[in-house]
Amino acid sequence: MTNEELAKQDLGCIFHPCSQMKDYENYPIIPIKRGYGAYIEDFEGRAYLDCISSWWVNLFGHANEEINAKITKQLGELEHVIFAGFTHEPALKLSRRLLDLSGFDKLFFADNGSSAVEVALKMAYQFFANRGEQRPLFVSLSNSYHGETMGALAVSDTGLYKDIYSPILLQTLQAASPALVSEDEAIASMKDLLRQNANKVASVIVEPLVQCAGGMLMYDASYLKRLKSLCEEEGVFLICDEIAVGFGRTGSMFAYEQAGIKPDLVCLSKGITAGYLPLSVVLMRQEMYDAFYDDYEKGRSFMHSHSYTANALACAAANACLDIFERDNIIETNKAKIALIASKLEGFRGLKNVLEVRQRGMIAAVELKNPLQKRISLEFSQNCMKEGVYLRPLGNVVYFMPPYIFTSEQLHKMLDVAKNAIETLDLGN
Ligand SMILES: *Cc1c(COP(=O)(O)O)cnc(C)c1O
Repeated sequence: MTNEELAKQDLGCIFHPCSQMKDYENYPIIPIKRGYGAYIEDFEGRAYLDCISSWWVNLFGHANEEINAKITKQLGELEHVIFAGFTHEPALKLSRRLLDLSGFDKLFFADNGSSAVEVALKMAYQFFANRGEQRPLFVSLSNSYHGETMGALAVSDTGLYKDIYSPILLQTLQAASPALVSEDEAIASMKDLLRQNANKVASVIVEPLVQCAGGMLMYDASYLKRLKSLCEEEGVFLICDEIAVGFGRTGSMFAYEQAGIKPDLVCLSKGITAGYLPLSVVLMRQEMYDAFYDDYEKGRSFMHSHSYTANALACAAANACLDIFERDNIIETNKAKIALIASKLEGFRGLKNVLEVRQRGMIAAVELKNPLQKRISLEFSQNCMKEGVYLRPLGNVVYFMPPYIFTSEQLHKMLDVAKNAIETLDLGN
């Protein structure tokens, strides 16, 4: 089978995510035959460096032998079991490890990022409802992204994904993002919203340090520290959505650590299984857990579930992922890669098409000047693919989120190809 034949078959039956299907007329879909290490390979033998970790999930490469072996072993014992009334070793082991790593007390499993956000929002709301308080509002940041199910979309602020659904979404409030205004202004904006809606807000939700889907916009840990104090003063919960930034992406295991704070709820997904299987968790403190603990008849239970909650294969993958973090001391070994990316990024500054260069740990972004507002993402992507590099810009932002197994050579190749592709874009600058 050739790429073309498979692409044609695909269009005959599949509606792809986050796509205008008509675009595939000019930018054909690429059938992938296999993945190995940092590469994905198509049906005509062309290999591409996966520089965005297959949508930010893959940490240790494709077909990683160690992870494969551990999932295979689990497969021989138990693939999945209902998680209400039952438990299993992979989930227990993973829970103990995540709680020890984070210092939280309890966790709730779900099966994808958006679901974890739904869980956190519902828990924050019900915490107050269980005490007889109605707090129907949530506050998030402008330019935020928390997923695409209805609750997660309601706290997001990415017009492209959200506007059309506005009439049917929960009402939420957006405070100014510290990535777009000064830290003082952002805190003042949050304070105003919380005070104007005193006793009506259940929780604030933020993406710590990097607003990823919103264009890899970055802000300082000091904002998070001030935000946590503010939430405490105003008596509302702080949810940290670490779905994209957790598991070492910003340089520390979890991004909130850099602020020296402990949020009330933390959502984890994406890298949790090293990109193998869908899984998510919500970390919480004992106080949250206790608010739901009562006789069934009192109606305080958290009646939320997903069919694939704590899937045993996904938990085995997550344990294999943590094994690699521990054994190879990934947070330490990534430091050299982070430094290499930083020094290479210097070479992008001052290019005629470049507006700004940003980096936080293993996330880097180059924002382009695009005065004519050309739609560049698909063309840019295709140009890089010709050089064996897979990148997928967000609007005018070319970003890099490589798996942690990238060698120096691969990091050089990724950035050199991108630089060349940026320089050859005709944006009218
Ligand atoms: C990807 C993402 C989500 C949604 O996760 P899905 O698994 O795609 O539903 C939520 N929040 C953030 C910050 C994300 O990057």
